[in-house]
Amino acid sequence: MAGADAKKRIAIFGSTGSIGTQALEVIRSHTDILEVEILTAQTNDELLITQAMEFRPNAVVIGDDKKYEKVKAALAATDIKVFCGEEALEEVADFDTYDVMIAAIVGFAGLKPTLKAVSKGKVIALANKETLVVAGDIVMQMALDNRSPIIPVDSEHSAIFQCLVGEARNPIERIILTASGGPFLGKKPNFLVNVKRDHALQHPNWSMGAKITIDSATLMNKGLEMIEAKWLFNLQPEQIEVVIHPQSVIHSMVQFEDGSIKAQMGLPDMKLPIQYALGFPQRIKNDFPRLNFRRYPALNFEEPDFKTFRNLGLAIEALQKGGNTACVLNAANEIAVWAFLKNRIGFLDITAVVEKTMQHITYIKKPTLQEYFDSDGEARNFAASLMKL
Ligand code: NDP
Ligand code: MG
Repeated sequence: MAGADAKKRIAIFGSTGSIGTQALEVIRSHTDILEVEILTAQTNDELLITQAMEFRPNAVVIGDDKKYEKVKAALAATDIKVFCGEEALEEVADFDTYDVMIAAIVGFAGLKPTLKAVSKGKVIALANKETLVVAGDIVMQMALDNRSPIIPVDSEHSAIFQCLVGEARNPIERIILTASGGPFLGKKPNFLVNVKRDHALQHPNWSMGAKITIDSATLMNKGLEMIEAKWLFNLQPEQIEVVIHPQSVIHSMVQFEDGSIKAQMGLPDMKLPIQYALGFPQRIKNDFPRLNFRRYPALNFEEPDFKTFRNLGLAIEALQKGGNTACVLNAANEIAVWAFLKNRIGFLDITAVVEKTMQHITYIKKPTLQEYFDSDGEARNFAASLMKL
């Protein structure tokens, strides 16, 4: 563990992804205060090896067993420990030797290692929103019990977190999550029905991993973020609003009980919220490009098109119903997005699969962790059967 003046030791779960690589860029520019302890990847052995050679962590995990020998051989001349397989993620999350986990694995797979880190009272820089969507009540209670600070990396939630600094005694009246609207803003179902993978992967403002990019195009991402916000900031569903803001300059807003609204702004660059989470409570000086208001003569705001982007309504239904509904929504969405990325289903089928799966799976009001895992598995199987996968 780092002492008062020592460097913060960082474990990046999902280091080869969009968030993971940007986290390493941040660390590379601040090696005086940050160092890498653990790196994990699922399949990208080449990049994991390159990262390990540069940052010299204590341990790496490659999820795919078949790649273990290659990673082991490539790092043989170093003293880096090499692990493989799903269980190894929890094993290294159990290490005492790191201070902050960057939870940057995509999807449900991020839940177990994050829970392990929370149970150890680690600081969690949370990018993996699915962790809170699936089991937010259990994760937040465990974080409270183990004094594990959860600092959001998701840009909207980082914005809200930043707006709340210094406001501990002031209740939130509502939060306003901004959404870019994605590549299909203004489009209607007759257009969306023909949308293909490559088009949906072109986000106007953000460069992200494939799954979240599709979620942004379907607006499921904003729905997942509403559920994430409920747990992070202890809100009622009616306190969470979404507004379309195509420029992605205001990252989100908080309205207090006197009607005053605070917004956090900046260029759309995930390195900012990543760095904020790693430095918190300090802001670390950097040379990232600065926002120039003259380049943004107008900032626009509009109501989301709930009729066309029905995922948002489904997520709000899950937010209101609680229990295992959001877990089911998430599982069906993960598998439907995977199928869309493999060109097995159409763009609008994603919503149909999620909706039918939500109708099918038995509602559990207060699930145990095991019941969340079971609901996830059942929802995946049912969604796969709908798509004949
Ligand atoms: P990517 O797909 O780019 O990266 C995912 C990472 O997780 C990779 O390192 C990947 O390894 C690893 N991984 C994938 N599947 C598994 C698995 N089954 N078990 C263990 N590791 C796995 O995703 P992003 O970086 O875009 O997103 C990560 C998380 O952050 C998501 O939850 C997303 O919603 C959230 N987020 C992302 C933002 C962004 O700008 N990208 C913004 C806000 C939130 P490999 O590369 O080897 O396959
Ligand atoms: Mg976001």
